Amino acid sequence: MRKLTAIFSIILFLTACQTVPYTHRKSLVLIPQSLELELGLNTYREILKKSRISRNRKYNQMLSRVGMKIARAAHRPQYHWEFKVLKDDRVLNAFCLPGGKIAVYTGLMKLVSSDAELATVVGHEVGHAIARHGAERMSHLLLVQLGGMALQEALRKKPKKTVQLAMIAYGIGTTLGIVLPYSRLQEYEADRIGLILMAKAGYDPHAALSFWQKMYKKFKGKEPPEFLSTHPLTKHRIERIKKLIPEAMRYYRG
Ligand SMILES: [Zn+2]
Repeated sequence: MRKLTAIFSIILFLTACQTVPYTHRKSLVLIPQSLELELGLNTYREILKKSRISRNRKYNQMLSRVGMKIARAAHRPQYHWEFKVLKDDRVLNAFCLPGGKIAVYTGLMKLVSSDAELATVVGHEVGHAIARHGAERMSHLLLVQLGGMALQEALRKKPKKTVQLAMIAYGIGTTLGIVLPYSRLQEYEADRIGLILMAKAGYDPHAALSFWQKMYKKFKGKEPPEFLSTHPLTKHRIERIKKLIPEAMRYYRG
C-alpha cells in the first residue's frame, strides 16, 4: 500500500511539474492549463464588471500597439489577447491574467512616458502569466484557503471565492484589501522573461532600467503604490535588471 502511494505521488508530481519558459525552472503547478484559462477569463469578467473602461484614445492606442507586439513575442496560440485601459488615476497597477487578458490602470499609464517603458510593464506582467506564477500561487492558496478542495470542485461550488483567490494570486487584490507580493523568485523570473519579450518585440531592454529607476526615485520613502507593493522595488532589484540586460539584448533587433 505504501509503495502504491509512493508511485502515485511520483506520478502526480511528474504530471504537475512544468518548465518555465526561458528560465527552464521546474515549478509545481497543481492546476491544469484549461482550468487556469477558464479561471483567468472569469476573473477578468469580474474585474471589468467592477471597473470603468478608459476612453482616453492616446492610452488605448498605446496599450494596443505595445500589447500586440509583446503578445506576438510571447507566442501563446491558446491565448485570446485583450488589452484594456481601466480608468482609475489612483491605481498604479497592471496585470495579465492567464489567457492573455491585459489591463493597465490610468494611474500607471500617466507615469509611462514611452512605448518602451510601457513594454517594460506589459512584458513583466506577461512574464508572470506565461511562467504560470498565478497558478503556482493558487496551488498554494487553494490548499490553505479551501482546505485542499480541488479547483474544479471549488469553481463549481464557490465561484466567488475562487475568483477572489485568483485576484490575490495575480496581484490584483486591493479591491479585497489584500495584497500578496509575488515571491522574490517569481519577480526575478518575470523581470528576466519580460526583458526578453520586450527585446523580441523590438523595444530596447535598457528602457526597463530607466523606467524602474524613475519609479524608484519617485516613490522612494513614500507610501508605495500597489504595483510596487506587489512588485517590490529596491536598488538591489535594479542592479539585477542591469545584469539581465545582456541576455535580453541577444533577442533584440532594434
Ligand atoms: Zn511582478
